[in-house]
Amino acid sequence: MCTTNTSSSNQNNIFKDLVAHAQAYGFIYPSSEIYDGLQAIYDYGPYGVALKRNIQSFWWQSMTQLQQNIVGIDAAIIMHPTTWKASGHLDGFRDPMVDNKDSQKRYRVDLLIEAHATQLAAQSKAVEAKELVEAMETCLQAADLLGLDKLIQAFKITCPVAKTANWTPVRQFNLMFSTQSGAQNDATTIYLRPETAQGIFVNFLNVQKTARMKIPFGIAQIGKAFRNEIVARQFTFRMREFEQMEMQFFIQPGTEKEWFNYWQKTRLRWYTVLGIPDQKINIHPHKQLAHYAAAAIDIEYDFPFGFKEVEGIHSRTDFDLSNHEKYAKKKMQYFDADAQKHYIPYVIETSAGLDRLVLMVLSNAFIQEGKVATGGAAEPKNRTLLKLPPPLAPIKAAIFPLLKKDGMEEKALAIFDLLKYDFPLVYESNQSIGKRYARQDLIGTPYCITVDHQTLEDETVTIRERDSMVQYRMVIYKVAHLLHETTSIKSLLVQL
Ligand code: ATP
Repeated sequence: MCTTNTSSSNQNNIFKDLVAHAQAYGFIYPSSEIYDGLQAIYDYGPYGVALKRNIQSFWWQSMTQLQQNIVGIDAAIIMHPTTWKASGHLDGFRDPMVDNKDSQKRYRVDLLIEAHATQLAAQSKAVEAKELVEAMETCLQAADLLGLDKLIQAFKITCPVAKTANWTPVRQFNLMFSTQSGAQNDATTIYLRPETAQGIFVNFLNVQKTARMKIPFGIAQIGKAFRNEIVARQFTFRMREFEQMEMQFFIQPGTEKEWFNYWQKTRLRWYTVLGIPDQKINIHPHKQLAHYAAAAIDIEYDFPFGFKEVEGIHSRTDFDLSNHEKYAKKKMQYFDADAQKHYIPYVIETSAGLDRLVLMVLSNAFIQEGKVATGGAAEPKNRTLLKLPPPLAPIKAAIFPLLKKDGMEEKALAIFDLLKYDFPLVYESNQSIGKRYARQDLIGTPYCITVDHQTLEDETVTIRERDSMVQYRMVIYKVAHLLHETTSIKSLLVQL
């Protein structure tokens, strides 16, 4: 019991350090920070945006460029409001919430109950915890709000802030953000999309016809989605404005099991190539299915706060296309020339959250070493570093002149100019070389390249590697090749 508590409090500390690190070193800031921030909304800084774009490129290229039968689109965030009637979001996209009357805080009931179950498990009450979660799942499945009320009372669940059990009855809240479009007296209520998928469904025939796609084929999209999440915790894990990377794969009805398995396997391989160890990935099959799904799994990553979903794979049947056909009164049928028949295709969806993937990659890369360095004398004894896979690193190499004299600066700047068209670099000439290395470790730069006296004589530079801190000399003309081989997105794509 003691071990569990210690290790979970260690994990809490690691997560706190990671959040502080992400902010201090230019990855992620609270949005509108000068106004004390806005709950569950975040901005990406210079290194954060580069990391996010690299993950995005890896996803986009692997899902479109490498696939003969998947194409991309970029649909608008605001869609015709009937879209959300047809998709089921107006009626079904809601979560049971409960308010504590003392703290005035609102909670998502499933998360409140799950947090209580985790506490019970930590107190060696695993059986009680299991019973609680199972009873909750039964209530959620049956939309039994009264049952949820009773569970909260029976298990004496209290508000984490007020520490009281003075709750309102459980109620359903829709998670979509709405706003008005048009002149005030003639305005229509519109919604910020809660998922990017519907932009793909409404364009299904446009894409199929204009890009001359034959089933099976996919449409991929990366874009913002918005959910009025009530419980905003765990940094960028649960945001109100976030980015999704979704692919809808259109198939012949009857082949859904085969394609569901195919995409599960294909997506898992993507995480391995991204450098995520197998033991940190879990597959969680859904018991409680979303309103559109016939089968679903979550791909979960072992965050410092436990295994949590980063991507969902859903077998969506013809739910969306059939409903759009009904509400738009437009045919959504596909003519299969091989089978000589018309049908509404079934869909397998892969839906990843880009912000959660950034947090996953950061969590996996964040290392606090307390060891004696093995590199040069200038190396620090303790160091914090981001062991990012080099193709995801925001900066691929830092170029340093050892000293600001004897032409070393000019030479270092010439190397910077030579490489800058192909790689994001930084040039740094201030402070000791050890401090410059340490700074690059903190943002995850895989290579530091130093120009010294010997460079001026034989055109070689010192390369210092981030992870091993090993140093070696290399002729300048070979550096571009090294960076290309180890830091390009291509170096990941070829492993898929
Ligand atoms: P959760 O159960 O955590 O609320 P979900 O099952 O509702 O997530 P999906 O609707 O399947 O999520 O969305 C697909 C992906 O979008 C998720 O796997 C996640 O990575 C991402 N995502 C969903 N909601 C958020 C959010 N509020 N903030 C950041 N990413 C999100």
